[in-house]
Amino acid sequence: MDLAHIGATPKGGVRRIALTDEDRQGRDLVLHWFHEAGMAVRIDEVGNVFARRAGTDPAARAVATGSHIDTQPSGGKFDGNFGVLAGLEVVRTLNDRGIRTRAPIEVAFWTNEEGTRFTPVMMGSGAFAGVFDVARILGEKDLAGLAVGDELERIGYRGTQACGEVPGGMFAAYFEVHIEQGPVLEAQGLPIGVVQGALGQQWYDVTVTGMDAHAGPTPMGLRHDAMLGTARMVEAVNRIALAEAPDGRGTVGFVQVTPNSRNVVPGEVRFSVDFRHAQQTGLDHMDAAMRREFAAIADAGRLQVAIAQVVKFDPCAFDAACVGSVRRAAEALGLPCMDIVSGAGHDAVYVARVAPTGMIFVPCKDGISHNEIEDALPEHIAAGANVLLHAMLDRAT
Ligand SMILES: [Zn+2]
Repeated sequence: MDLAHIGATPKGGVRRIALTDEDRQGRDLVLHWFHEAGMAVRIDEVGNVFARRAGTDPAARAVATGSHIDTQPSGGKFDGNFGVLAGLEVVRTLNDRGIRTRAPIEVAFWTNEEGTRFTPVMMGSGAFAGVFDVARILGEKDLAGLAVGDELERIGYRGTQACGEVPGGMFAAYFEVHIEQGPVLEAQGLPIGVVQGALGQQWYDVTVTGMDAHAGPTPMGLRHDAMLGTARMVEAVNRIALAEAPDGRGTVGFVQVTPNSRNVVPGEVRFSVDFRHAQQTGLDHMDAAMRREFAAIADAGRLQVAIAQVVKFDPCAFDAACVGSVRRAAEALGLPCMDIVSGAGHDAVYVARVAPTGMIFVPCKDGISHNEIEDALPEHIAAGANVLLHAMLDRAT
């Protein structure tokens, strides 16, 4: 609640976009809390921040947690911020109880998870995992032409730690606790989701080409109506994803009609397709079904269709041992839980490429996120933080 004062919006949300003055103030406050908890702070070349509580074994690699404190333009208090502050609470609890761990404990926050001002999304964790080249990231510009590197410099967070390097060696384990951002846990009445992995994603740009024609003189049977073909393709996307239940997702969220005039049969439509699935075979099925159905719809409507795949994230399966630590922690605490798959991207998905990783979900009100009214119950927030504590202790003692 204190962090949410920085960039607070009238409807109770937060606007703290990456590398703005508000982001700087949020970062400064969390660093102040890290220092108060006696942690040593490092900042890397892309502004990722790592705070370490020393362990007793100088040879042990750190057990880490983290998330992000940047938000959407009209974001909520909990997305990302909960995970970072839960990590801080783990350290405060260890301090209060005088518990020393064998392995160091680290709490990280990653630069620009949201990707709203600078692309790509999950920028800091992606650079850490070697998915993005550091020089390329530092040169990425926002719509005003301001570069990531210059903005990091301006807010005082262009660090010197080499991106992707961890003193003493890569994390022995990484855990991230996050609100679910979906409705499943709330619907099941469960406080904890044991996250198995994240859905793979394939995004497409589709162009349907017909012919512009006058809406009056052109009889129905003689049209090349790109919008009608598109409507049938949107329906097909829905049907294709339903056939891959429960883990298939298919969404058309962007449509651009040309010439977009009420008395012209549309000659061209561009639209997006977003397919997600937990298995690559599922994505392959949906890809093949889409190509087959779109071709048939185009043929029947005397249209041309062009499909370009523009984004691809492989399905991510989290580390079995880390997932096991999360499940045992929930069970030991007497917290009812279920296995769940993340439909959204998270920093943990990139960290999973370089370190054994697991995630913990807690419910959020009505499953709503990326919205100022995003909310979560204190008992669920506490449950998630306690599971994080015990999962980290499982690996760090
Ligand atoms: Zn998030």
